[in-house]
Amino acid sequence: MHAMNAMNGVTTTILGYPRIGPRRELKRATEDYWAGRIDADRLEETAASLRAGVWRELAQAGLDRVPSNTFSLYDQVLDTTILLGAVPARFWGFTGLDRYFAMARGADGVPPLEMTKWFDTNYHYLVPELGPETRFQLSFDKPLAEYREARALGMETRPVLVGPLSYLLLAKSTQPDFSTLDLLPDLLDVYAELLERLAGAGVTEVQFDEPALAADRSADELAALRRAYHTLGGLTARPRLLVATYFGEIGEALPILADSAVESIALDFVAGPGNLRTLASVGGLRHKTLVAGIVDGRNVWRTDIPGALSTLVSLLGLTDNLVVSTSCSLLHVPIDLSLETGLDEGLRDRLAFAKEKVAEVVLLGRALREGHQVVAGARAVPAPGVNEQVRARLAELGDGATRSPHAERLALQASSLGLPPLAGTTIGSFPQTPEVRRARADLRSGAIDEAAYEKLNRGEIDRVIALQEELGLDVLVHGEPERNDMVQYFAELLDGFAATEFGWVQSYGSRCVRPPILFGDVSRPEPMTLRWATYAQSLTGKPVKGMLTGPVTMLAWSFVRDDQPLAATARQVALALRDEVADLEAAGIRVIQVDEPALRELLPLRAADRDAYLAWAVGAFRLATGGAADTTQIHTHMCYSEFGEIIGAIGDLDADVTSVEAARSHLELLDDLREAGYRRGIGPGVYDIHSPRVPTVEEVERALRKAVTTVDPALLWVNPDCGLKTRGYEEVTASLANMMEAARRVRASL
Ligand code: GLN
Ligand code: ZN
Repeated sequence: MHAMNAMNGVTTTILGYPRIGPRRELKRATEDYWAGRIDADRLEETAASLRAGVWRELAQAGLDRVPSNTFSLYDQVLDTTILLGAVPARFWGFTGLDRYFAMARGADGVPPLEMTKWFDTNYHYLVPELGPETRFQLSFDKPLAEYREARALGMETRPVLVGPLSYLLLAKSTQPDFSTLDLLPDLLDVYAELLERLAGAGVTEVQFDEPALAADRSADELAALRRAYHTLGGLTARPRLLVATYFGEIGEALPILADSAVESIALDFVAGPGNLRTLASVGGLRHKTLVAGIVDGRNVWRTDIPGALSTLVSLLGLTDNLVVSTSCSLLHVPIDLSLETGLDEGLRDRLAFAKEKVAEVVLLGRALREGHQVVAGARAVPAPGVNEQVRARLAELGDGATRSPHAERLALQASSLGLPPLAGTTIGSFPQTPEVRRARADLRSGAIDEAAYEKLNRGEIDRVIALQEELGLDVLVHGEPERNDMVQYFAELLDGFAATEFGWVQSYGSRCVRPPILFGDVSRPEPMTLRWATYAQSLTGKPVKGMLTGPVTMLAWSFVRDDQPLAATARQVALALRDEVADLEAAGIRVIQVDEPALRELLPLRAADRDAYLAWAVGAFRLATGGAADTTQIHTHMCYSEFGEIIGAIGDLDADVTSVEAARSHLELLDDLREAGYRRGIGPGVYDIHSPRVPTVEEVERALRKAVTTVDPALLWVNPDCGLKTRGYEEVTASLANMMEAARRVRASL
């Protein structure tokens, strides 16, 4: 470690904290409120006690500066939309909390705001709708109210706001030719008014979150950034301004912020290690405060304290005033590691959740102030275990390609499978009925034994196969009754993954997920899906499709080890899947689907990083599937139809059939794929499973008739646009019956 002098000026903060409560108290309270079990006052009581709990915890942990306005009943972008008075007209008939939740979830036939992913995370925000008709007006006193609430508890806080540039860029335009950036001057007027009011109430510092700066930004957007902070920085009555950037490197935005009048800039040195170089290249931040994001806010690993200190020491030379912080808000990690009593000791010793990360920030601050004797006792983070056999096999396999070109496989599969044109199939899951869920819960609690569970699931598979035969589907599925979740199910069966008990993270609103932790070399102790698939196949002469979750999706929806490149980890998962494919094939399964709904989600924010990502992502999929025989038909499924940047990668996956969601017109999507050179099997989802509505025969028929004008009927598949697990049997049966009737009509007229 570097020689280190005591630095008195160094302080500590974090950029944000989870708001759901250590036991998901917020989820319970909001859901109780929606169901009418509690009233608005009770909901507000719970919210206030959660906020107070977080502030107290952060202050007691020894942080010098504590953020506020990081709480939200649903989403901080929605809060901002309300703050700015940018409520679309369809919600004007609602008031107060009714309006708030109508915008989040829809009400009385009024559709909610659209929801989409917050940058490259698994958090979803509500998309503002802005247009020339938008009139911003300061309309919500939440930032001020939270500040006062904390102050009444004896705590001085820093209100956090969504930055003006990020807010406008996160919005969607209500008119094709309108740029939301045109609203910047109006937005700045409202923010100026807010800053003045906050200053009047005693607020000394405000944080503007600008994660949009971690993605590529055009000259116009950078000009808007300059203008925004020039305007806000130039206000006379205002708090100090901290502009927080995170999720990557901010590149060209740094000189703009450095030249502005803002007092502090937060940089992410975890997701954006290159920020150090950029900072040095502009000569550091003189006369400004650097908030150094050094503790990872996105992942669950303990910080390497000596390594972090050495980065911080280099940063001391690049600023007059250093604040130690998290890389981003801790919203994205579970709250409290001490609740996890079931984890293996060796693994626990490598982990830090939000609470523990706050302690790390405090420790790093003390170490810089008091010298490194403070950390002399810090334990080294143990290294993950190594599976030599997995590593040796991967080294030997290379890219693992053994299949003939697609055109040759196509002919072989056509004769071995003997499917009709417009073959009908589903995406995998059938409704998860209360009985199906109860069987899994009873097995877990010990209420039933393995044999009883096996019998219940077999009964379910019997019914699902019989139903599909009756409906006339061509490639059947077993229905996935054994799966709680498409990632968790496999994570529980693979070595190298662990599950937490309370490791909940907010996904959107009251929905929380508990991502598995991929902590070491991955291997497959035994087959994972074989007994269900082969049982289903034993019931029917039609092909049953084996069903696996792809390597990229396994990584995207887990916390993943960060001691080796994602590419290397993805190959290990792929190897386990490759073995599963081999086992399925050997047991007589002739069609195997490897789902990759998250392929687009992990796409890097910066265009320059995308080719490298797609290379390893596609490589992992091909490693998983590339050992299959030419006669085995490989399918993949993705839950979207707007492929954008990844459209070329779809063909590179080298699957035989791809099924996709069909939000847009089928034809447009089929044209896009064709233009990108895609000439394989394609199943454009012909109806939307996200709503209970049953499609008519005619509408499916119309879509199929359109599709056969551009796609060879032998390559066109007929399927819903995603799995059926969230639906009920009544609508599923009716929908699939109509879907297959439409397929038969179109076939008859070919
Ligand atoms: N096979 C999965 C299912 O049908 C796919 C789920 C998904 O695409 N998200 O449920
Ligand atoms: Zn899907």
